[in-house]
Amino acid sequence: EKLFSGFSKTRDNLAVIDELLLYWNLADTDRVLDELEEALLVSDFGPKITIKIVESLREDIVAGKLKSGSEIKEALKKSVLDLLTTKGSKTELQLGYRKPAVVMIVGVNGGGKTTSLGKLAYRLKKEGAKVLMAAGDTFRAAACDQLEIWAGRTGCEIVVAEKEKAKAASVISQAVKRGKEQGYDIVLCDTSGRLHTNYSLMEELIACKKAVSKVIPGAPNEILQVLDGTTGLNMLPQAREFNEIVGITGLILTKLDGSARGGCVVSVVNELGIPVKFVGVGEGVEDLQPFDAEAFVNAIFS
Ligand code: GDP
Repeated sequence: EKLFSGFSKTRDNLAVIDELLLYWNLADTDRVLDELEEALLVSDFGPKITIKIVESLREDIVAGKLKSGSEIKEALKKSVLDLLTTKGSKTELQLGYRKPAVVMIVGVNGGGKTTSLGKLAYRLKKEGAKVLMAAGDTFRAAACDQLEIWAGRTGCEIVVAEKEKAKAASVISQAVKRGKEQGYDIVLCDTSGRLHTNYSLMEELIACKKAVSKVIPGAPNEILQVLDGTTGLNMLPQAREFNEIVGITGLILTKLDGSARGGCVVSVVNELGIPVKFVGVGEGVEDLQPFDAEAFVNAIFS
């Protein structure tokens, strides 16, 4: 329901083609596809994906495979669904068998990292896991306080920096060591997110990743990038850059309950081949849901 209401704008943009499809006939094809192209662009699908979708529909119409407006609509939904499904990568968390599993949460400030970490902790704890949090955003003092609130809210333990200006990698390393010694199932690591163009942040993230694998070879099991679902196509360069430097294994799309921009999600998943693992649909403990591509498609098309 929250996803559905968050995508109302995208749905409205795309609904303009419904009437055209209702009265579609073959002679109308170019006009309908031009309108569809426009609607997809306005909905942040980006030029590359838009052309891919429109041209594949045109081919199927010309080949006589799609014979009615409703068949075109179904083919459109199916093509978006296919674009959202990454081959060979799983949408469920891959935590491996070694304990503790380590999950790093990365992304630019304000996207919803700390909140998502808190909601994920709640979810994992509810499933019976013993969860430890690491306050690795040592750059922003408020982030640590915020994570401590989430620790209290979810009943999870937390490792915070012992001194001011501590290195993020050292806090994370300490947390993973404690996780190992004290039999935790999962260590969730928050990280800093000052401007993604700031090179030292990327160096810091690499150092954090190395600190984890030094304690547990093969970890982190997941590096999840949080992307603000209301930022539109800006998501794409952000995801590309983080992925190149630290290697992203999954995405968390937040604020899909707000005025989310659906199309760019399709672009990010398709271009980078990284699966969306969770979506954030609010600020409460229960507001993190596993990604469901079908529900997503049904929320953007009426
Ligand atoms: P960080 O800087 O990346 O750690 O971002 P925060 O976790 O501090 O989140 C920034 C703001 O976005 C906060 O006010 C959060 O409550 C809010 N927020 C995070 N996720 C969601 C979401 O899924 N829905 C809504 N509506 N707000 C969210």
